Amino acid sequence: MRVLAAVLREFNKPFSIEEFDIGEPGPGDVVVMVKASGICGRDLVIWRGGFRNLKPPLILGHEIFGEVNGRAVGVFGAITDGTCQYCRAGKENLCVNLQFFGEGRPGGYAEAVIAPASNVFELPDSDFVKYAAAVCPLATAIHASKLGGVGPGVRVLVTGAGGGVGIHTIQYLRYLGAYIISVTSPYKADFVAKYSDEVITDREFSRKVRDVDVVFEIVGAATINESLRALKREGVLVLIGNTEGEEVRLVRPALTIMREQRIIGSAAYTRREVLEAVQLLHKGVVKPVYRTYAFKDVNRAYEDLINNRVLGRAVLVF
Ligand SMILES: [Zn+2]
Repeated sequence: MRVLAAVLREFNKPFSIEEFDIGEPGPGDVVVMVKASGICGRDLVIWRGGFRNLKPPLILGHEIFGEVNGRAVGVFGAITDGTCQYCRAGKENLCVNLQFFGEGRPGGYAEAVIAPASNVFELPDSDFVKYAAAVCPLATAIHASKLGGVGPGVRVLVTGAGGGVGIHTIQYLRYLGAYIISVTSPYKADFVAKYSDEVITDREFSRKVRDVDVVFEIVGAATINESLRALKREGVLVLIGNTEGEEVRLVRPALTIMREQRIIGSAAYTRREVLEAVQLLHKGVVKPVYRTYAFKDVNRAYEDLINNRVLGRAVLVF
């Protein structure tokens, strides 16, 4: 079937809005009419050419919300085989055959998406934009919080706190009762302060804060060395993102050795965590923070994201 889509024809170049053949639904598939699609940090890394196994043309997007026969639905962003040792252990985010929408198969920057029916779940209400803005970041935060052992009173430093993942993460950390130290850019500071115990806008933030229990490293290469300086002995740095896709260099490995710090990766989220995120949004526990763009203005959305002009998530609406 041919649908209107934003097609990435060349890395680092504007998307082309065109009719594109996304294939035909097979047995067990459904066609989701897309109503809102979130733009993930992961998409920006792909757009820059950071995933070496991917080749254009690509239709990006794994944060897909819309309708199937008039029912409000969401799509789990990745397809898993359900049979590997990780899937069987309930850790399908580590599936050995994991395939994200927008990568191995056409994603949500299009009027319609073909998905296995088993990947589609019902939404409790039809506020698609809310879910497109915050389900992926919030599910990410839920997963990372478990890995980092975050609970009441735990001091957590969050880098990139004003970005799409960050602004929803700090709200979730507050819900857990953690003490939140946010690192963000000056123009986002006032807003971020609403959900933080402390806000730091200094690039050299380890001068202002020390001995945190946990770091949520959302930015990656640009901040990780400052984060490690601020992290206590036996502290945990949860590596959630590396937004520029750059090489990460440990400037002072001796510090991590001497303090016995742990650096652990956090790989997306499970289906259960997605459904947990949906409920928190539905109940209003976490408020979605976003800016919407008409689907055809996807290139403007990217320009704003790259220039750090979007508070929270950018969402494409159809
Ligand atoms: Zn995402």
